[in-house]
Amino acid sequence: MKLATKYIHAGVEPDPSTGAIMTPIFQTSTYVQQAPGKNKGYEYARTQNPTRHALEKALAAIENGKHGICFGSGMAAADAVIRLLKPGDEVICTNDLYGGSYRLFTKIFAPYGIKFHFIGMQKAPEISKYINEHTKLMWVETPTNPLMNIIDIAACASVAKQHHVRLCVDNTFASPYLQNPIDLGADIVVHSATKYLGGHSDVVHGVVIVNEDDMAEKLHFIQNSCGAVPGPHDCWLVLRGIKTLHVRMKQHCINGEIVAHFLRNHPKVNKVYWCGFEDHPNHEIAKKQMRGYGGMMSFTLKNNSMEAAFNVLSSTKLFSLAESLGGVESLIGHPASMTHASIPREERIKNGLEDSLIRLSVGIEDADDLKADLAQAIG
Ligand SMILES: *Cc1c(COP(=O)(O)O)cnc(C)c1O
Repeated sequence: MKLATKYIHAGVEPDPSTGAIMTPIFQTSTYVQQAPGKNKGYEYARTQNPTRHALEKALAAIENGKHGICFGSGMAAADAVIRLLKPGDEVICTNDLYGGSYRLFTKIFAPYGIKFHFIGMQKAPEISKYINEHTKLMWVETPTNPLMNIIDIAACASVAKQHHVRLCVDNTFASPYLQNPIDLGADIVVHSATKYLGGHSDVVHGVVIVNEDDMAEKLHFIQNSCGAVPGPHDCWLVLRGIKTLHVRMKQHCINGEIVAHFLRNHPKVNKVYWCGFEDHPNHEIAKKQMRGYGGMMSFTLKNNSMEAAFNVLSSTKLFSLAESLGGVESLIGHPASMTHASIPREERIKNGLEDSLIRLSVGIEDADDLKADLAQAIG
């Protein structure tokens, strides 16, 4: 089945009781049983919900995985993956990863005795140096947030396989439309469905997708035992979002390219981070593993101060100043004071996250209007 067809049909069957073409929102906490233990496969809604099941099937299908396990947020999905580990285990992560993941790893799980190494993963062979007998997981984000570094998923997968380590890819920035990590050898894919999958900035949701049956079983056990499940209405919103993912992503890619080139030619802009530029350090890898370059980008100003960045951030009219990304509307953000505020300044600068760095989530409005808005804000 081709992508567009899959996005519209995967996981969704007409409702058996009415024929409703769209899976209903099963807003129930429990299910009536005919006799103790005799039921229709549904007992209690933390454990099973038909709206959630339809979404889990759809998400697995569009990531070319076997199992989808949904959670109440992207962070809850990441949390579930780390819960597969035990004290003493070690994880190797990209060093410019999402601030919330950094916080989860260092503030919640490190005190429980799981060790995290944050390293640059652009050169896959160097990763081996950090692997020892305790290493159980590699955690990759690509493109990275917010510097749009590209990590070679297939190369990481081969290092992981060689050392019997599992590879998890946070695929939020790319979305399943631009990149399918399981096809490239990853074992686990995590999404914040809050972003491109939902696509309309109206839901917080997360998912883990895996192929291995016993890992899926463990994740379902964690989902049910820890209870960070999404509500049925939220599942329905993501299910609805997926149906237009391909159409939205095509436009994000078109607008992203236009805005990236506009910024690059602007006299007050210093550097533009966008993986579609041919001189991006890992453009060839992006070309190989992605179907397009998307609408996420960052840029710094020639006046590299927080103040100069704040002036731009408070002057845009179409680009709304907000956390998050991946919705139909354009957003602008300041990683140093917003998404990455929990990373100490010294470490942030060391990783190239400058004070004036501004991140854009380019939406699917008319690109001329977006350019005009940035032009007046940058001045
Ligand atoms: C937003 C985001 C998350 C966290 O997801 P929530 O749904 O906000 O909990 C994780 N990783 C990346 C790359 C994100 O952008």
